[in-house]
Amino acid sequence: MVFGVAGVPTNYKGKFAGVFPWLKQMGLNGFEIQCTYGFKVSDDRRDIIKNMAKNGFYFSMHAPYYINLGSLNAAVVGRSKSNMKEGIELAKELDVNRIIFHPGGGHENTAEGRKHAINQIVDAINEFTSQIDMGSVRLYPEIGGKTANLGSLDEIIEICSRCKYCYPCIDIAHLHAREIGSITTKQILLEKLTKIKNALPEKFKYIHFHAYTINYGDKGEIKHLKHGENMPDGRVGMPNLADFVDVLKEMKIDPWVISEALDTQEIGAKYMRDLYFNN
Ligand SMILES: [Zn+2]
Repeated sequence: MVFGVAGVPTNYKGKFAGVFPWLKQMGLNGFEIQCTYGFKVSDDRRDIIKNMAKNGFYFSMHAPYYINLGSLNAAVVGRSKSNMKEGIELAKELDVNRIIFHPGGGHENTAEGRKHAINQIVDAINEFTSQIDMGSVRLYPEIGGKTANLGSLDEIIEICSRCKYCYPCIDIAHLHAREIGSITTKQILLEKLTKIKNALPEKFKYIHFHAYTINYGDKGEIKHLKHGENMPDGRVGMPNLADFVDVLKEMKIDPWVISEALDTQEIGAKYMRDLYFNN
């Protein structure tokens, strides 16, 4: 079971190496390396990451946001494919097995346009993964937070069904936001995860989660909320993370859970971790 944070939390002030003991004393053991501006990690950090991986920490890597395999612009898709290959090489060097990426956007937001984009993404992934040695690296297309983004639950399932190396990254906050507040009960969350389990029985045990609460509007995601923060209109921030932890226990899965709570990742991650182990 892995509970962790996305990047160095803003509440942590200090050197990079020190963030791991700081997380560990909270019971956290996961860290998603944020390659927001490119698949680059300095030599110093590489050594620290490799060392911490030997000491019980689990590392995943989040691809740059400019990667867009679903773009209508062929040059963007071409660059995104080479970027992904660079990311896979970096992941292998660091012994990181999970690369999270956004399927992208820019297509026409119609059933036809989306279908075309998903086919293009699947072809692109199957092309570049056949050109290199994947080692033990798995690719995780993530649920998109805005209604116009590619990466609905069905689209993530489809990509994972058609691409050998793809596994689901279920961002439950993005899912809630893109479906305009759909996850209102524990039962609904259980049904959604059961759907994934039934569709991807072999891959389900490697599922990756992002879990936190989110503010949304009629186009989906507006902003990640801080842990425990209400919506601007006063409603409680959702999805309910205690329900989420209950569902993990009921389904008897031990996935990776990364908190992306605004400026409070470690607090959100610790909250879920404590519920999981102490209840
Ligand atoms: Zn993401």
